[in-house]
Amino acid sequence: MATPSLVDPFQRAITYLRVSVTDRCDFRCVYCMTEHMAFLPKAELLSLEELDRLCSVFVGLGVRKLRITGGEPLVRKGIMTFFRAMRRHVESGALDELTLTTNGSQLSRFAADLVACGVRRVNVSLDTLDPAKFRAITRWGRFGQVLDGIEAAAAAGLGVKINAVALRGVNDGEIHDLVAWCGARGHDLTFIEVMPMGDLGNEDRLDQYYSLKALRRDLESRWTLVDTTERTGGPARYARVLETGGRVGFITPLTHNFCESCNRVRLTCTGQLFMCLGQDADADLRSALRAHPGDDAPVVRAIEAAIARKPKGHDFDYSRQTVAGRVSRHMSHTGG
Ligand code: SAM
Ligand code: SF4
Repeated sequence: MATPSLVDPFQRAITYLRVSVTDRCDFRCVYCMTEHMAFLPKAELLSLEELDRLCSVFVGLGVRKLRITGGEPLVRKGIMTFFRAMRRHVESGALDELTLTTNGSQLSRFAADLVACGVRRVNVSLDTLDPAKFRAITRWGRFGQVLDGIEAAAAAGLGVKINAVALRGVNDGEIHDLVAWCGARGHDLTFIEVMPMGDLGNEDRLDQYYSLKALRRDLESRWTLVDTTERTGGPARYARVLETGGRVGFITPLTHNFCESCNRVRLTCTGQLFMCLGQDADADLRSALRAHPGDDAPVVRAIEAAIARKPKGHDFDYSRQTVAGRVSRHMSHTGG
């Protein structure tokens, strides 16, 4: 394997790029968007060709894992053209993994195409198994459509990991059902702590905050969890559930600061690079891209200069009973 050429000031090699390909979505999850979001004009977005060019530059600089996200990546028009283009990096061995995070609504349509593009696993966000609650959380989502999508993905041979945001007073009574449901279907399950992103009006993140320390303690009243050292390239820590044989992961940005092993950066659909999910440090790669249509060298320099400014970590903190360290942008903009 080539030596990674993107190394930040804290000696962390950057090998994982998350790319938000659109800020649009067919759902309006309460912790992610307001009901009447204003979306970006099309001219602001990187074209599919520009996304290809920029991702390919990152791959050339040692990125080995590409996660496509959004907004909802599968609602971006023509997105399969982009996935097909990325297949060449999987086939050449430059990429270890091409994957995506999706709400699942379009998976019935695209699962087989994704497999043909070299995708092997998908993360599907599903916070509840109760159709009414699902409607309340996603506002516009249809539960049956997502279940069909998950089934189609599994039938096409994709590994499915379920992501559930832990929300006190919303899905805290369902954590055992989620473990049993995923265990029976062979899906890994990862719980995520709700993060203070964007200004979403009067929803109070502190009220909904359910620490994964408490969640894990609650899970252990029914399941035997054995910690594993397995990592999947992301920030989750995993435990094996002895009763189901499945794995449960915990992404704990608030109770456990995982920044010291951070290997990733995030690209927005407008070509802004965020060096940390929880900080405002960014770099405008779109300008470099558009100013030099036939020459990647200035783009490489812009990326290297950005990595040299990667912050040490985020400052999210609920411990003082206020939401500290909040960043103003929405998760759908940065790419969750
Ligand atoms: N639309 C796709 C989906 O829902 O999977 C991809 C984008 S979405 C922004 C990525 C992930 O971020 C989802 O799992 C979602 O639940 C999570 N997310 C969104 N807002 C969040 C918040 N405020 N705190 C924690 N996770 C959040
Ligand atoms: Fe859409 Fe995903 Fe945000 Fe829900 S979490 S509104 S599905 S981008």
